[in-house]
Amino acid sequence: MSVKKIIFLNQKGGVGKTTTAVNLGSSLAQMGNKVLLVDLDAQGNLTSAVSGDNRINGTYEVIVGQCPATEACQKTSIQNLYVMGANINMAGLNIELVDQEMRESFLKKALAPLEDQWDYILADCPPSLGLVTMNAMCWAQYVIIPMQCEYFAMEGLNLLMRTISNIKKSLNPSLQVLGILFTMYVKRTKLANDVVEDISSYFSSLVFSTLIPRNVRIAEAPSHGLPINVYDMQCSGAKAYQKLAQEVVKRVAKFE
Ligand code: ADP
Ligand code: MG
Repeated sequence: MSVKKIIFLNQKGGVGKTTTAVNLGSSLAQMGNKVLLVDLDAQGNLTSAVSGDNRINGTYEVIVGQCPATEACQKTSIQNLYVMGANINMAGLNIELVDQEMRESFLKKALAPLEDQWDYILADCPPSLGLVTMNAMCWAQYVIIPMQCEYFAMEGLNLLMRTISNIKKSLNPSLQVLGILFTMYVKRTKLANDVVEDISSYFSSLVFSTLIPRNVRIAEAPSHGLPINVYDMQCSGAKAYQKLAQEVVKRVAKFE
């Protein structure tokens, strides 16, 4: 079985990228897949959400060639789930890469030795379309776009789709949008339903049928260093991420 490489992309912060990387990853691990989470955000939220250590070699050291990728994968307390952590060094990486040749390919080169050891590698992007995110787009096969059901959703989405299409034409022809994912969905608000309907009528089958509900348990889980399916497996959030994992497996199988 070949590895599936997925990134979570949205230039906006606070839309559920990190939350989705952690909880989709953990749900896939629970299904028996060997999963590596890669933290590309200097904030290190993904790392701490699974109690990873951000003082040891992580994505920065791997990308700049100070540490082999295989040595930066940490076990988590969850079976089948591993993390490559991010530390504050990541904050300067965009600038460090600017003058380099092949500056968009550092991540791809650095992670290449990992390919045959994992079923899924999920990378969490920072909230920008800077060089680190470009590196992620060069490396990945699949993009998941988490978004909130907000009024300006469509504007941001169009920019993102254009950027992905440019990368596909130039640097990474195998990049595919796996799906658009609505997060923090509140069923009873008209706005949320209008936005879901609007985007679904435009992007149709690209939108995941799983909607991730706004659920306080999802927001609590990272402070315990646990994914939602371990923190509270019965809550609506855990069930939604399980359902998403099944949908992701099905969609990926269509492409392979
Ligand atoms: P991003 O990585 O895009 O910046 P996060 O995943 O960090 O976004 O989410 C932003 C905030 O919203 C976090 O505090 C997170 O705990 C919270 N959050 C994310 N998804 C949900 C949800 N479904 N229900 C409730 N809170 C959520
Ligand atoms: Mg984040």
